[in-house]
Amino acid sequence: MKIFMVDAMLGKLATWLRLTGHDAFYSTVMHDEDLLRIALEERRVLLTSDAILCRRAEEAGIEVMLVRGTVDEEVASVFLKYGIIPEADPAKSRCTKCNGVLTHITEDEKHQIHGLVPDQTYNHYSEFWFCKYCKSVFFQGGQWTNIEEYMRRIAELMKEMREASNLREQ
Ligand SMILES: [Zn+2]
Repeated sequence: MKIFMVDAMLGKLATWLRLTGHDAFYSTVMHDEDLLRIALEERRVLLTSDAILCRRAEEAGIEVMLVRGTVDEEVASVFLKYGIIPEADPAKSRCTKCNGVLTHITEDEKHQIHGLVPDQTYNHYSEFWFCKYCKSVFFQGGQWTNIEEYMRRIAELMKEMREASNLREQ
């Protein structure tokens, strides 16, 4: 599975890559030199909307994709190119805040995250995912429905893009 380096302009793309279980390094404060160095050292695919950075990456021998369009088009085109299935799975997801690997917390273990979420949430849900790096706690709350809806929209868009490229090839 590819691992990624996402440039500072593409924060939403980084989130969607993490939600689908991909290692997506993302920083808003890092200089281009450092991005390129880390991408090279860790063999990350650089995703950028910056044509100049894209060229520099190519010259440095880094696998790179120039990502363009609306946020939806960015996500769909990257997913298409790298064969990513638009399904967010909490069991595979990485931390959307820091890219950390999440630990599954079952009902029996949930005392471990007591105090890290509001009591109401704590009592209502039986399964949680915990990021030990940034101490974030995730659960399949109301926002999960939105995540699934968005992934369906991306799946549709990917289908349209695939059809459009098939037409072009004919
Ligand atoms: Zn985290």
